[in-house]
Amino acid sequence: MRPSILDPLFASVSTLNGVGPKVSVLIGGLVAPPGAAGVAKVRDLLFHLPSGAIDRRRREQIASAPDGVIVTLEVRIDHYQFPSREARNQPTRVIAHDASGEIALTYFRAQSQWLEKLFPLGETLLVSGKVDRFNGRASMIHPDFVGSAEDAESLPLVEPVYPMTAGLSPKVLRRGVANALEKLPDLEEWIEPSILKREAFPPFRASLESLHKLQDPKELDPANPARRRLAYDEFLASQLALALSRRRMKQEAGRSLGTDGAIRARAERSLPFQLTPGQSQALAEIYADMASPDRMVRLLQGDVGAGKTVVALLAMAAAKESGAQSALLAPTEILARQHFAGLSRFCDAAGLSIALLTGRDNGRTREGKLAAIASGEIDIIVGTHALFQDDVVYRDLGLVVVDEQHRFGVEQRLSLTRKGKSPDLLVMTATPIPRTLVLAAFGDMDVSRLYGKPAGRKPITTVAVSFDRLEEIVARAGKAIDDGEKLYWVCPLVEETETSDLTAAEERAEVLRQFFGDHVGLVHGRMSGPEKDAAMADFKSGKTRIVVATTVIEVGVDVPDASIIVIEHAERFGLSQLHQLRGRVGRAEKPSSCVLLYRAPLGETAKARLAVMRETEDGFRIAEEDLKLRGEGDLLGTRQSGMQSFRIADLEAHADLMESARDDARLLIATDPDLTSRRGEAVRALLYLFGKDDAIKLLRAG
Ligand code: ADP
Ligand code: MG
Repeated sequence: MRPSILDPLFASVSTLNGVGPKVSVLIGGLVAPPGAAGVAKVRDLLFHLPSGAIDRRRREQIASAPDGVIVTLEVRIDHYQFPSREARNQPTRVIAHDASGEIALTYFRAQSQWLEKLFPLGETLLVSGKVDRFNGRASMIHPDFVGSAEDAESLPLVEPVYPMTAGLSPKVLRRGVANALEKLPDLEEWIEPSILKREAFPPFRASLESLHKLQDPKELDPANPARRRLAYDEFLASQLALALSRRRMKQEAGRSLGTDGAIRARAERSLPFQLTPGQSQALAEIYADMASPDRMVRLLQGDVGAGKTVVALLAMAAAKESGAQSALLAPTEILARQHFAGLSRFCDAAGLSIALLTGRDNGRTREGKLAAIASGEIDIIVGTHALFQDDVVYRDLGLVVVDEQHRFGVEQRLSLTRKGKSPDLLVMTATPIPRTLVLAAFGDMDVSRLYGKPAGRKPITTVAVSFDRLEEIVARAGKAIDDGEKLYWVCPLVEETETSDLTAAEERAEVLRQFFGDHVGLVHGRMSGPEKDAAMADFKSGKTRIVVATTVIEVGVDVPDASIIVIEHAERFGLSQLHQLRGRVGRAEKPSSCVLLYRAPLGETAKARLAVMRETEDGFRIAEEDLKLRGEGDLLGTRQSGMQSFRIADLEAHADLMESARDDARLLIATDPDLTSRRGEAVRALLYLFGKDDAIKLLRAG
């Protein structure tokens, strides 16, 4: 149960004074978290931090006030100039002066009564706004602050500016926030005392208050302890959630898999190559996890083409040594088929039986496969989400391998392993995300990093070419085809609703067919599964030599002898995506190239991205650069996975805090697994505050 002290924070913003139904809808659109159906709670408003500030601290004399800068003047009100009846749309001017000169405070369409009340004649007032000069006469149009000189002390000379939405006035939002702050209770400290001390963190409530009631715009700096404190809170909540889910997974006693090494040795012998040192290292870690009676919860992070699939194969061979089955889950049908094809090559020689199960199987075929899975006849089942449907019963599922995991959320991770008797879990991701992000997204897992690529790979030559030179590129493609090469030609997505100038893959394929006839194939997201497969099979067999594709080929597609990739509208892709796409080539021993075809003029970010692509092939470095250029949300593909990104914390600026939060969370869960200590109780409030209700359900005394 949520502690009742938090209740005021979980009330709708409409319970705040001055926030009516209309305003609460607007605020909801602005601050409600995903999944809240646009309903904002008081908490959401409090977490909506200012993005900037208006600084009125600059006191000036009228004569010396610079144009166009916000200043505060102390002036005496002299008289009004109301517009005549005939000139209704002329402004009203309130004429005032100080020792240095005169100024007109200018209002359009203002009621005279209201003005006379605001500016009593003869009164000395503070006014703040931007000064403009027309023909040497100073004026301030609609001063955004007017107050008496006496209460100068209490004036909000620094005013927060919030990210806004149309229809909502800054003033109304600020008032809402001020009211929300009043609902903020004093909460028991949940941060570990030594960290609190080391970081000089102010308390939670004081931190929120100071950020909403700025004294100085500098306080918005990410390095300000109040901001860092809240970032830490957010990280801690998410790391605690991960630690709890990790504990839940680990707690279910696993079992020892991989007894004698015989089957994996045979599988290894059946490979036409030697394992790379990186593969051997990762396998050592995986085998050790599998052999231990604890459950394996491990992430295998390796660049495109680093050879993760082979690692998975050998892990699955080890499972078979204990008579256990393995399931390999791929995010798409294409990938599932490809894994199946790739693994089948080795399975025969290794004495492993393998089957493919996807949403496309039905009727008899499906029944047959289900029977073979239930009887244990099949050792390795490859497929899409169909693997986890209710009617799929495994005889003994011991290992679940998930490929390209960043598309699956944390909750899904738990559900994947419900099928077996707490099977080991190995997650493979080809997105070489930076360490902070690994912690953010996979903090519940142990991590193996697969460095390096199989020996003998030639580097990929990358060039950026302006679209003006399309003809030249087409000519080069022609030569490559004559030389027996295979090419990918990537176009941005065909969007049904989009009538933009995106080069549709279809159109491009049409154009290329005029040059290369039947050598040209086409794959795009709107084709049916079998159509896609057929097109890829034609390309693989060499029936087509050039395949025009949308980004459906982004992840994992393996045609080792394709050696050229042309990426149209390269400026529209993110770095990680470009890197993934480029990884489709350079998979064999012959040299490969990547042509980034862009439309000028290039924006700064696009220019920087293309430069990074030309400079390096190191996926981990590209990931770091991508984080800098693009921000964390997109990098993780949060939109696809539904994974929540951070509201307050900035993954780059606050990266150093993530590691502490992870350690702190794991330590706390190790010593107080059900959060029943005094600090544990405080931490529960933190989890609720940051919407980790699911994590709380994992507590025994939840
Ligand atoms: P990833 O899944 O990491 O992108 P894959 O496992 O698909 O990479 O491997 C890419 C290609 O490299 C495949 O064609 C695979 O057969 C090959 N490969 C994997 N390991 C090795 C190795 N140790 N030596 C040579 N080739 C390898
Ligand atoms: Mg792969």
